Amino acid sequence: MGRSGSMFPVSEKWKMVRDKEAERKYVVCNASEGEIDTFKDYFVLKNFPHEVVEGMNIALSTLGAEKGYIYLNKNYFREINEKLSPMVGEDIEVVEKRGGYVGGEETSVIEVIEGHSPEPRIKPPFPSCSGLWGFPTLVNNVETFCAVSRISKGSYQKKRFYSIAGSAPNKGVYELPESMTIEEVLRETGNLPDFDYFLQVGGGACGEVMLPEETGRVLQGLASIIMYDREETDPYLLMKRWVSFLLEGNCDKCTPCREGLFRIMEMIKKGNFEDVEDMFLVMEKTSLCPLGRVAVTPFRSLLEKIIPRNGDND
Ligand code: SF4
Repeated sequence: MGRSGSMFPVSEKWKMVRDKEAERKYVVCNASEGEIDTFKDYFVLKNFPHEVVEGMNIALSTLGAEKGYIYLNKNYFREINEKLSPMVGEDIEVVEKRGGYVGGEETSVIEVIEGHSPEPRIKPPFPSCSGLWGFPTLVNNVETFCAVSRISKGSYQKKRFYSIAGSAPNKGVYELPESMTIEEVLRETGNLPDFDYFLQVGGGACGEVMLPEETGRVLQGLASIIMYDREETDPYLLMKRWVSFLLEGNCDKCTPCREGLFRIMEMIKKGNFEDVEDMFLVMEKTSLCPLGRVAVTPFRSLLEKIIPRNGDND
């Protein structure tokens, strides 16, 4: 399973690119990591850059691809590029991310590398069939390439990187077994707090809100855990933070996402969520790219799990 939010099986993606007959093929390491309170790719790139590059080189030779690109978050580019560029060799180029949050969506990444504006393409076709300049393109996450390198060397220990942020007592990035439940991760890292809390998992803008009683689950995809102190967190301010981030980071290309986010902001200001589920369904079913489709997740889960309980407690 890939280590980004999409949770697509890595081997299937590799097979699709490998088996596609094409004149040229490409490999992209998506290091755009831009969601609120997510930083594990930054940690991996800073601490294990050789392994990331090695994973990309394995992909290049396995898939018969001619060139690779590391698409790097703007802040990381300023800090890491000088160190990274000399180790990538001639076959890999480091490209600075453009645009807001949506600039990290895989087809936006392809648009930017091709020299266009960071706007998503309609899928299908998926990049594995038709990506950079219409050729099959493998797009994987930083941590995925690091894991590929370790698997090839026989040093992979079925571990993954968890980022823990927010009100957690011991924030940071931890490498722990991928089979651990969220509760085990929190306990192991000294992050089971003595205050009432809730979590957001999978990213600080589009991640799902989770109650302590749900932490028996194992994290798939992006292993980002953000902790909120229930007493100290105003859920309306939190929703405003999410929607402001998403309004700033989307591309305004399609109506459901553009108007839907605007309507959610209005509902938050009025404190009236009567028709919000209809809005969520329209966004989920008709948004052009994953941003608009998954943007409803934090709002829906917070409204279901936190606001009614806060109301009960009043
Ligand atoms: S869902 Fe639509 S408006 Fe939102 S980021 Fe994607 S393409 Fe742009």
